[in-house]
Amino acid sequence: MNDKRTRLLVLAEEVAACHRCDLARTRTNTVFARGNPEAPIVLVGEGPGENEDEQGIPFVGKAGGILDECAVEVGLDPAKDVYVCNVVKCRPPRNRKPEPEEIGACSSFIARQIEFVAPRCIVALGATAASALGVVGGITKIRGKWTMRNGVPVMPTLHPAYVARVPYARKDLAVDLRAVAERFGGVSRRRETEASS
Ligand code: SF4
Repeated sequence: MNDKRTRLLVLAEEVAACHRCDLARTRTNTVFARGNPEAPIVLVGEGPGENEDEQGIPFVGKAGGILDECAVEVGLDPAKDVYVCNVVKCRPPRNRKPEPEEIGACSSFIARQIEFVAPRCIVALGATAASALGVVGGITKIRGKWTMRNGVPVMPTLHPAYVARVPYARKDLAVDLRAVAERFGGVSRRRETEASS
């Protein structure tokens, strides 16, 4: 196991034992990540929902299906090109938005997770994730516009759970992911090709 994977594994164990905020009392599982830690693109959502809490894996419900479908549509391989995680690692009850104190309590985990994966690009899914990454504003205003976080390009876009409720918004999510794919997609495949040649 390489150094990056070891560091992420240790971090996931730290998350699993965390009781820094009240969400620990109502969670079934902590939800750390899915996808490829070597991917060039990190997708960051708000927090786990019911299915994610049950399975301990992010974006496995309807919203996750939409996210994966849109990714494939724009040429990204969900298993290779992206690493998916959330701002908070435990489900807020009744799928409410995480409170600022909960986001604050969890902030060092997402910061270290991004640092360890060291992506070439971050996609913030929804206003809560964007705000936690330092991009503040209504999501319909800030979506689709590149910004920078610690030298890494960030693309804010719609949360796929919103797209599930408002199907016509799907085209906006796809447009933003396409911009990301055109700039950063396929890098992991090129790395693999280079490594095997
Ligand atoms: Fe810990 Fe984050 Fe879960 Fe709160 S949400 S208990 S800070 S892992």
